Amino acid sequence: MPDRKETTSDFEEREAVRRRLRKKRRKEVLYLRLTVLAFLAILLLLMGVEKFMNIKQHRAEEEFWEETKDAAVNTENVAEADEGGLFSAGLKIDEGTGKEDTATAGGSGDEGITHIRSCSEKWNLILVNPWNAIPEDYQVELEELSNGQAVDARCYPMLQQMMDDCRGEGLNPVICSSWRSREKQEALIADKEYRLIRAGYPEEDVAVEAAKTVAVPGTSEHELGLALDIVDSSYPELETEQENTPVQKWLMKNSWKYGFVLRYPSDKSALTGIIYEPWHYRYVGKEAAKIMYEEDLCLEEYLEKYCS
Ligand SMILES: [Zn+2]
Repeated sequence: MPDRKETTSDFEEREAVRRRLRKKRRKEVLYLRLTVLAFLAILLLLMGVEKFMNIKQHRAEEEFWEETKDAAVNTENVAEADEGGLFSAGLKIDEGTGKEDTATAGGSGDEGITHIRSCSEKWNLILVNPWNAIPEDYQVELEELSNGQAVDARCYPMLQQMMDDCRGEGLNPVICSSWRSREKQEALIADKEYRLIRAGYPEEDVAVEAAKTVAVPGTSEHELGLALDIVDSSYPELETEQENTPVQKWLMKNSWKYGFVLRYPSDKSALTGIIYEPWHYRYVGKEAAKIMYEEDLCLEEYLEKYCS
């Protein structure tokens, strides 16, 4: 059958179909673009909200940690020690000022001297080190010092006498740290953990890492109220060089007369678990201090020799 000539109405009909199809396609494209735009808008909105929430949360965290830090260290009026080579021996420091470092001497908690714990029942001879925590029920009656610090009231008179006599020699000793509450020690280690997280440490590792650098709450002698950090006002730094100051020279020579000993001598770190701290003094009583001074014993050695 031969093609019939296209009529005007056929042409118009075909054009009308084309127009409808074009219109339909334009609509579809428009819907698609609108859908994509709406999706992008929602995505941007969500990202914006999340970022805003993060900023708010971050600010809240910052404020919280700043407050915690302030509460923890506002009585520490000495500069922080160098975080460098001093602490490379894998030993603890007993301080909580954010300085490095530790990891118990000998490597693990069960390698220290633990069997003499029962011998240190006398209040002035209680042993606290990385392997011997303070008893949970430990109570201390505090005597406040003139600078707002506090110590165990039982050693206060001897401390006062020692400070008076030191000043009487024309020296200027400054007690920069003494009794610390458990809460303060906890705040110090929490602050350390937060700093580690911010430095990029995985969250599951921070507790172990923080414990290497700040005394774990319950193992700092400062919680006893029998330990003091004393520096020379001319050099208020918790650094090895502190040993060269006139105040330290006087204290190292005379503190035993008042019942205090330099608790962490340079050559006893393996026994104390703490690095050399030529500023940290511990009250042990005159009798023990005299023997420890004369026989060059640290508290761990004294207890083993005289109390076991
Ligand atoms: Zn100390």
